[in-house]
Order: sequence, then C-alpha cells, then structure tokens
Amino acid sequence: MATEIAAAAHPPEPFPAAGLAAAGLNRHAIFRRSELPAALLAQLPASDWQELVLLAHAGPLLWQQVSAAQQAGTVGGDDPIDAYTVDCVKRLFSGCLRQILYPGAQAPGLQALGQLAGWHRAAPFMVGIDAEYGTWFAYRALLLTAGGFLPTPPVDREHPCAACRERPCLDACPAGALTSGELQLATCLDYRLQADSPCAVTCHAREACPVGRQHRYPQAQIAHAYGHSLNFLRAWRRSATTAQDGVVGNQRNKT
Ligand code: SF4
Ligand code: SF4
Repeated sequence: MATEIAAAAHPPEPFPAAGLAAAGLNRHAIFRRSELPAALLAQLPASDWQELVLLAHAGPLLWQQVSAAQQAGTVGGDDPIDAYTVDCVKRLFSGCLRQILYPGAQAPGLQALGQLAGWHRAAPFMVGIDAEYGTWFAYRALLLTAGGFLPTPPVDREHPCAACRERPCLDACPAGALTSGELQLATCLDYRLQADSPCAVTCHAREACPVGRQHRYPQAQIAHAYGHSLNFLRAWRRSATTAQDGVVGNQRNKT
C-alpha cells in the first residue's frame, strides 16, 4: 500500500540532490506532471502534486549506508533498504512530499519509468542496463512531490548490448535459460528454486557482464538482494501455478 503523507503548510525546499547522493540514492529523475504520458498519468492519484520523482541507487554506497544504519540501530526489519530509503525520503523532502508510491504495492511500472528517464535498457536476463553503471543500479523510490522542481532531461546513451559481440552473459547461465538470446523465465525460476541452486543468491549471467563492473555491489548486498527475491519466489510459487512475468519482473527491479 502506498504511504500517504499529510500536506504541509511551509514552502518547499530546493531539490535535495546532494543529500540523496550522500545517502547512496544517487540517481534521480524528475518528471513534471503536465508532461507525463496520459496512460501513466491515469495510474496516478489526482491529488495535489506537481512532480513524479524516481530515485535509484547505483554502485555500493547505498549498501554501505544501510549497513551503517543497521549497526547504529536506526533501521531494521525484513527489508532494511526499503526502511532506510523511506527514512531518507521523509527527512530530505519534508514539506514538499505528497505521497510515497514506492516502496508500495501499487506503484506504476518502474522499468517503464526507467526507460522514460533514459536509464533502462533491457539486458537479456531481464534486468535494466545502462552504459555507465551496467546492471549495478536499482529502483528504490517513487514519489509525488509539490516542490516546483525542474524536470531532468532523459539520459541519452546507447544500449550497451548493441555493441557487445561476445555476449558472455548468455553462456554464463548454468540453467541454459539464455540460450535463445532471451530469458526463458520459467527455466530461470525453476533453476533458482531448486535445492542448493547455484543461482539462489546471485545471477551468473549478470556477474559475467563486463559493463559497469567497477560499480558492482558488495557480495553481502548481492546475497541480500537475491536472497530476498528468492524468498519472494518461494512464496509466489507456493501460491501460483504459472509464471507471471509482471509480478516476478517487478521483483527483479529491486536487485
Ligand atoms: S554481457 Fe553483453 S549482451 Fe550481456 S548484458 Fe552485458 S552488454 Fe548485454
Ligand atoms: S539467475 Fe541463474 S538461471 Fe536465472 S538467468 Fe541468472 S544465471 Fe540464469
């Protein structure tokens, strides 16, 4: 469920880019309400807001900050990254924050927003990739704000896979889920859900990609992210009989 924030009386502050970057939430895109595609706008509340703000992290800093907050006892719970992110958002946006759509169950498609921002190109293994960070970034928050913020221009970079001749990710998948060049999602999920699967807490295809490798997450973060998604998959498999790309794809946004 999306988090409702009461409207505040005091004027909005400047966009808190520096604070976000220091917190490890170092990618942001601002979409002005009046410029959003109609189909996307139709999915959003009609309440008092001016901008849609997409936040992501790239590289290892977010995990370092979350680990420090855990050690200090200021965040905890089943998903400390989400808890930390929500704390940062509430602290940094204060008066101009209208609603946190994500983390939340009813957020619009994050990959589609990543494409609008120019961040997201599809890697063969169904994770977003861009030329700077490779696959080592993930969506962390989606907000409605009333800050009068200037929109950010979309990032304009080539799709890294277009220039990748060897495509080492395809051969690195031990399940053969990428032999056709596109992910066979059911094959991947079945393999991950096997007892003692080599893909329980990582994706070997992702690890094999050379793009943005300098931004790779720490091992503990990778294990946390994939362990979390594996728990989700186990619960989903217990309750479903057929693969649902949208449900599972949304989980992959968090890794
Ligand atoms: S290894 Fe090549 S084809 Fe595979 S995700 Fe990376 S850039 Fe794309
Ligand atoms: S998680 Fe494992 S099975 Fe799935 S695409 Fe990655 S390497 Fe292949």
